[in-house]
Amino acid sequence: MSTDPDRDPYSSERLKMVAGQLQARGIADERVLNAMAKVPRHEFVSAKYWDQAYEDHPIPIAENQTISQPYIVALMTEALALGSEEKVLEVGTGSGYQTAILAELARKVFSIERHGSLAEVAQALLARLGYRNVRVIVGDGSAGVPEFAPYDAITVAAAAPNIPEALWQQLAEGGRLVIPVGPPEAQELQLVHKVNGTAVMRRIEACRFVPLIGEQGYKPES
Ligand code: SAM
Repeated sequence: MSTDPDRDPYSSERLKMVAGQLQARGIADERVLNAMAKVPRHEFVSAKYWDQAYEDHPIPIAENQTISQPYIVALMTEALALGSEEKVLEVGTGSGYQTAILAELARKVFSIERHGSLAEVAQALLARLGYRNVRVIVGDGSAGVPEFAPYDAITVAAAAPNIPEALWQQLAEGGRLVIPVGPPEAQELQLVHKVNGTAVMRRIEACRFVPLIGEQGYKPES
């Protein structure tokens, strides 16, 4: 992946995004900031949105879903406090953008997406960008991915009515889970730290995500 301005015309847009949207709002983890300055967000959206790729808002992707706002991606990733050796589970691959950020910061990333078409596009793009430590899985991530558990960190990019028991069970001792919890119209982003088998909770901030649809999430609309 290149950050050479001649080959990547968006590198200066990314640096502006990092300074103006992330550092200005308190994101301070240098590793997260460097990853956000490196990953080419425009590649994860349709070319018709490239001129908006580094703006401060979500952008539509296929299947009526969205790529999350850069600040929210940075905030959730920072809360996971990754130190480079973790095994991470991401629920809700979407475009694969946050997957790439996580892959920059962790040893291995498993990412699960309920829409097969999104998972396929994201896996191919991540491979093209050179990420070898990522595996995208199609399925209901509200039940986690038990075959590769336990995870040192879990991040959920869709809103759940409660913290899914399966995700709590698949979190390693000492692990951190970041998840938006609440009704579809407004949620609280929660950080759950597993300390001696007990959940130590911290509210991060108010947020709004698409719903987590699944067995331990919201039921699909019929
Ligand atoms: N962080 C992603 C990105 O950078 O593009 C954005 C994710 S988008 C806000 C949420 C994703 O969660 C959607 O792609 C949606 O299909 C997916 N999703 C919803 N419920 C799910 C479930 N039970 N299992 C897996 N994925 C789910």
